[in-house]
Amino acid sequence: MLGQVIELIEKNKCFAITSHIRPDGDSLGSSLALYWILHGLGKDAEVIMCDTVPHSYSKLPGADEVRVVKDIDRDYDAVFVIECSDVTRPGLPALKDQFVVNIDHHSTTGLFGNLNWIDSTAAAVGEMVYNLAKAIGSKITPEIASCVYAALLTDTGSFHFSNTTERTFKIASELVRHGAQPAKLSQAIFYNYPYAKVQLTGAVLSTLQRDESGRIAWITMTKEALDHTGATEDDSDGIITYPLTIGDVEAVAFFRELSNSTYRISLRSKNRVNVARIAESFGGGGHANAAGFTIKADYEQFSREVIEKLKEAVASAPAVNGREIKPR
Ligand code: 5GP
Ligand code: MN
Repeated sequence: MLGQVIELIEKNKCFAITSHIRPDGDSLGSSLALYWILHGLGKDAEVIMCDTVPHSYSKLPGADEVRVVKDIDRDYDAVFVIECSDVTRPGLPALKDQFVVNIDHHSTTGLFGNLNWIDSTAAAVGEMVYNLAKAIGSKITPEIASCVYAALLTDTGSFHFSNTTERTFKIASELVRHGAQPAKLSQAIFYNYPYAKVQLTGAVLSTLQRDESGRIAWITMTKEALDHTGATEDDSDGIITYPLTIGDVEAVAFFRELSNSTYRISLRSKNRVNVARIAESFGGGGHANAAGFTIKADYEQFSREVIEKLKEAVASAPAVNGREIKPR
């Protein structure tokens, strides 16, 4: 598949790159890395998104060039769609009429592209884009290295998650050699929050609840919490990590109220508790340890269902033997 993607790039001139609504570190890092790769090859390329670049990623090289659009409004030879489960995820209706190259590392993704390049062993799509850069013979510039590093850093939870492998560190090492600056990138992404985000974190964490086993926790963000703190919905990203820092907690749900009875739910888990299946059962998707969905339903009812499903997932997950970390 990589071979076909390379052939397509070599034979064509004009490309767009897009990703899902509310882009995250991997979708932006990968999209911008691909933007720099294509420009380096003398191609016309632009990153188009239906949402603005979140504050945390605004310092990535090329972030200022991202064009926010309501739909596809130009002719392209092909549109790269980064880490999307289906063709509607970018929120650009006319995408369905384009030549689409679907690039993703989620195993749950649909094969909606004219070309589909899926690698579920990649820690981030950034890793795939980096492989593309090397295979096509791009010079790895500091811009490419920084964007790929940001994708890896965020999708591995700062190298904490189980998708962090020897390969991840090898690539990260190469990226640093090519000009990515780890401390600067971490500071831009994780130590650059608006005051309102930390206030919102306090408000949301004050809603923390656990089930009787102490293995499942959940938090809620009401619209009032947003209004009261002056924070934006983007500011709620990352708060879900806190309940997961509790030693006994193995699965967390974060219920976010968007507008009249519409909620966005994030799910996170540790070890072998699979939350992707739960998200899929509500029409969403994601990875085994990080998934989500959006629902318009009665909060009391669906939140109870989510918690029940988390209990089942935790109860049926294979036990982790002991607490000692055994070297492999
Ligand atoms: P987050 O909770 O950070 O929004 O998303 C965690 C993971 O779940 C990401 O891999 C994201 O792409 C996926 N995800 C979140 N919401 C949805 C959704 O509505 N549909 C699908 N297919 N995936 C989602
Ligand atoms: Mn990703």
